[in-house]
Amino acid sequence: MNKLEDIVSLCKRRGFIFPGSEIYGGFAGTWDYGPLGVTLKKKIMDAWWKFFVEDRDDMYGIDAAILMNPKTWVASGHTATFADPLVECKECKSRFRADKIANNINESVTTEEFLATHTKCPVCGKENWGPIRKFNMMFSTHVGAVLPDDDQELAAKNIAYLRPETAQGIFTNYKNVVDTFYPNLPFGLAQQGKAFRNEISPRDFILRDRECSQMEIEYFVHPNAWEENFEKMRKAQHEFLEEIVKLPKEKIHEFEVPAEDRAHYSKRTIDFMFDYPNGEEELMGLAYRTDFDLQNIARESGKSMEYRDKITGETLIPHVIEPSIGVERLFLAILATAYTEDEINNEKRIVLKLPENLAPYKFCVSPLLKNKPELVTKAKEVYDILRQKYSSITWDDSGNIGKRYRKQDEIGTPKCIVIDFDTLEDNTVTVRDRDTTKQTRIKIDNL
Ligand SMILES: [Zn+2]
Repeated sequence: MNKLEDIVSLCKRRGFIFPGSEIYGGFAGTWDYGPLGVTLKKKIMDAWWKFFVEDRDDMYGIDAAILMNPKTWVASGHTATFADPLVECKECKSRFRADKIANNINESVTTEEFLATHTKCPVCGKENWGPIRKFNMMFSTHVGAVLPDDDQELAAKNIAYLRPETAQGIFTNYKNVVDTFYPNLPFGLAQQGKAFRNEISPRDFILRDRECSQMEIEYFVHPNAWEENFEKMRKAQHEFLEEIVKLPKEKIHEFEVPAEDRAHYSKRTIDFMFDYPNGEEELMGLAYRTDFDLQNIARESGKSMEYRDKITGETLIPHVIEPSIGVERLFLAILATAYTEDEINNEKRIVLKLPENLAPYKFCVSPLLKNKPELVTKAKEVYDILRQKYSSITWDDSGNIGKRYRKQDEIGTPKCIVIDFDTLEDNTVTVRDRDTTKQTRIKIDNL
């Protein structure tokens, strides 16, 4: 098994992540978070929110609806261009994303370019391809009381999409926030939430799934000041990734997207790449989007997106710097960093060395023996004391102490606190450290 498979297996075994709808045979590209997974995910999202929103004076949070007026996606260009190149093997009818099965081509590949690569079908090995077709990745749905046998025209009018990104929910609220809070430039609007993409071939565990969570900021700046603000935002991303969620600096690589690969409106885009177990993959993006989105909205809505500076009186359309990160991508980077196999007393052990601020549980409290009522009573007492002092603590009295340690190591609990017969004498407990397995005696009052 490779490391990614080990992580997938641990996630299932210990209740972090289960395959979506597993009981009905699964549902491709979806994953369900179990009790520990949802806790870890929430802590990651809360850490981001605290760092980028709560601890700053220039950020405002919003939470827009997932279902948005379809004009949103016309204005943003998603209706016309949010598509992947789909190619079908004429022999076995398998369908693929052309740019994922051939080398050195990108999403805008033409049929001729693809055929020239002489790619063989990954399923049947033949080389007999149909034309490249554009496959729009937005999930559509019908909104309102429309029945399948209603006339087509009416049905078409009621098509809406599950949002393919959270960014447009921010842009469409820019004017609301400006009109109610009168923020000074630069200021940012932040949003966390679900986004949906009908990936042709979901793969790599939670890296490429059909339903994901995003954390995005649109940072509005004076057009003359985009470069310095881009630089500040770039540094803030590193600080968050390296200091707050503790990803190893040496595994994060900046990739300056060259002009020919950038969106036409962007003057600078950096992809933050991460060394995942299966190779380098995009972790997040930082893009300078100019006034592209606000201009599109102004055109489609007929409303002015102008911003008036309170001091100088200058009127302008702000430019935008957008850091965008997928929660699942970050989740997997954190898990892959934490996942460690080592040997303790000649025994192989799996341990999740999660940072303390992210571990689902900070402490596990347990009595040395569960059939000694005096130990159990004392342990409950200690548990109650810690419960009042800290959140994120757990109780475990299953199996023997060795098994409990093993379980807590695998779910990343930094400290195990054990109540034994000495505790009854001198009010000290054993505190066992996850990473070193060292045990120390500490007074209950000093916990
Ligand atoms: Zn085939």
